[in-house]
Amino acid sequence: MAAQLHWMGAAQAAAAVRAREVSATELVRAHLDRIAALDGTVGAFLEVMADRALERARRVDGLLSNSDPGPLAGVPVAIKDVLDVEGVPTTCGSRVLEGYVPPFTATAVRRLEAAGAIVLGKTNLDEFAMGSSTENSAYRVTRNPWSPDRVPGGSSGGSAAAVAAGMAPLAIGTDTGGSIRQPAAFCGVVGLKPSYGRVSRWGLVAFASSLDQAGPFGRSVEDVALAAAVLFGPDPRDATSAPVAAPDFEAAMARDAAGLRIGVPWSFLETGVDAAVMASFKDALRTLEDAGARMVDVSLPHLSHAIATYYLIATAEASSNLARFDGVRYGRRADAPDLASMYGETRDRGFGPEVKRRIVLGTFALSSGYYDAYYVRAQQVRTLIRRDFEQAFAGCDVVATPTAPTPPFRIGEKTADPLQMYLADIFTVPASLAGLPAVSLPSAPAGGLPVGLQLQGRLFDEETLLRLGHAFQQRTNHHRARPAGLA
Ligand code: GLN
Repeated sequence: MAAQLHWMGAAQAAAAVRAREVSATELVRAHLDRIAALDGTVGAFLEVMADRALERARRVDGLLSNSDPGPLAGVPVAIKDVLDVEGVPTTCGSRVLEGYVPPFTATAVRRLEAAGAIVLGKTNLDEFAMGSSTENSAYRVTRNPWSPDRVPGGSSGGSAAAVAAGMAPLAIGTDTGGSIRQPAAFCGVVGLKPSYGRVSRWGLVAFASSLDQAGPFGRSVEDVALAAAVLFGPDPRDATSAPVAAPDFEAAMARDAAGLRIGVPWSFLETGVDAAVMASFKDALRTLEDAGARMVDVSLPHLSHAIATYYLIATAEASSNLARFDGVRYGRRADAPDLASMYGETRDRGFGPEVKRRIVLGTFALSSGYYDAYYVRAQQVRTLIRRDFEQAFAGCDVVATPTAPTPPFRIGEKTADPLQMYLADIFTVPASLAGLPAVSLPSAPAGGLPVGLQLQGRLFDEETLLRLGHAFQQRTNHHRARPAGLA
């Protein structure tokens, strides 16, 4: 049994711990061993908190005799390094935060720990979550567990790779324009971006505050639902968290897909989608039809402007949010003769090229004379995109697309061309702009590489997404495939 502990799903592991078939300590040890064996190659983690994890696992084991340690009892979880854990460095993949140790724990992490989960470590990401390949990390390269010369996607590439490689059954990522869904697709795992407001952003370092959402990765919809139920819910410390209780996912997943209407925006998918990705997508739609869902054609006419809109709004918000990293309050401070050059030097040495590009773009979009032409216009188009979805959802329950236009690309393939990199998010950015929930599920692979199916839902209707996703996984085995050589 011990050899297989690292492939145990979260739901199964929690049940085994509660039934005392396996201890939380054994589970955590098995995952720490797995990380020790594989992470030199995969590069998913920036920090492994072995002592802290084992101590907490012992505490969960100790609780078992007289109380219920919670729905995630003993389940190891990896946390993207933009969420704070008290006493453990938060780097955001950036040199500018080197040496910063937060004095508090993010609400999302606290909820997981209160439910019995054990944090294993902090995972790699694109600097400040800006990127689609994890290549913008200042610290290390993360390799796709399915093919070591390929990217794991990003920005939550470390979290997705950790789950795909059996280094954690669950991981937390954040998604501003696709950073949970696209790496989930590239690594062959499930990733849920909740509706804006579902998960508290308290203790999450902000990139673009009107878009950022944290959410879970797992190897099955069932595991992701278990984590979502724990993560969801209002938080008095985050004014943007929505006063809506978590749905009953178990009841939702017990229902089949019969009667659900799936909208497909065919005209939006006409160009730029890799042939193998399209074949995988069509195959997934056929499976959903077999499950009783009905296909309808929907039109989302303003989606062609989504990338441009996103790269104005996200950069504008980032330029403002990242102003706080000035060498005074957090992390690294450059030596300089006066205050202005200290700020300048700190930021020049601390930020990488992509972050600088975004700060410049965002500052420009917000500057006087250009604010109306760019930022205000982008907000108006954002409203049109939101309305497109509202109209589409008058005739369907879920909107399906591929998660990304291509399978995972090669390390280095897109680093010289930021625009090509931005286009990796063409299908994920729209739901972010509209604040809607969306999930990526493994569909049929393309030449041995993972491909993702994206399902987008109405605001706060994660229930239907997971219901349909679970029905899909009951009829397919794509989510059961494991990277070769990592058994
Ligand atoms: N890849 C997109 C970007 O670079 C989305 C990132 C994210 O969701 N954090 O902005």
